[in-house]
Amino acid sequence: MKKILSLLALLTAVACVSAAMAQPAAWSQPTKPFRIVDNIYYVGTKGLASYLIVSDGKAILLDGTLAGNAGLIEKNIRALGFRLSDVRIILNSHAHYDHAAGIAKLKQDSGAEVMAMEQDKSALEHGRQEGDTTYGGARFPAVKVDRTLHDGSVVTLGDVQMIAMLTPGHTKGCTTWRMTATDKGVPRQVVFPCSITVAGNILVGNKSYPGIVGDFRNSFDRLGAMRADIVLPAHPEFADVFMRKARRDAGDEGAFIDKDLLHRMVEKARIAFDKELAAAQK
Ligand code: ZN
Repeated sequence: MKKILSLLALLTAVACVSAAMAQPAAWSQPTKPFRIVDNIYYVGTKGLASYLIVSDGKAILLDGTLAGNAGLIEKNIRALGFRLSDVRIILNSHAHYDHAAGIAKLKQDSGAEVMAMEQDKSALEHGRQEGDTTYGGARFPAVKVDRTLHDGSVVTLGDVQMIAMLTPGHTKGCTTWRMTATDKGVPRQVVFPCSITVAGNILVGNKSYPGIVGDFRNSFDRLGAMRADIVLPAHPEFADVFMRKARRDAGDEGAFIDKDLLHRMVEKARIAFDKELAAAQK
């Protein structure tokens, strides 16, 4: 039994290492935190987003990125003048290791409550992504979910309200968040879209996620019909977050506002999805 357990531990370690080997360097490169708009800050790394939404000295953290990045995110939160214990709620875009692996440590260090969509809860609590993939999935540190959310659930902290929208496909519980920010007196709808790429998901014959194709299509439709003034995705390059920050720092005050961006992202993803589905059906 002992032998089997150590073999299992070894296999898990190998899986984690191979997942780590494939990952872009930017994912774990530190970057200084900065304010995006109103009460929303970027506290992630160069290649993986983590957003801090502040209300009256307390905060909501969206996404934990890689397990090894938890310390970088914590440092960024402190650099903005907050204590870790000011983080009261941790949310997740979806239960993949590049967005969820750091949550266990961030929860432990902050004492925050973790809230997650019902359909991603077991993946988070088992530290294992669900649904069949071409690469066999990846493991990450498991974390207990304190509050289970559903489509339309509202997460409130002080005067901040974040609304959860179920946009499945990329994972079963892929969650798009939205909230209103005030930008120089003007209310702006900020959308944190969940990932909509196929990204190694098996589209035809996915035994553990048979509804995957219909889910992707519904999510494209829902996101495509959504109003978004400012788009803040889990992978910052999909919305050129750093380029927009550079433009804003250079004097373009509206650099983060792009009302058509979400629609462009959805149409691009839809075309790539149709192509992959057609190839898989051959
Ligand atoms: Zn993902």
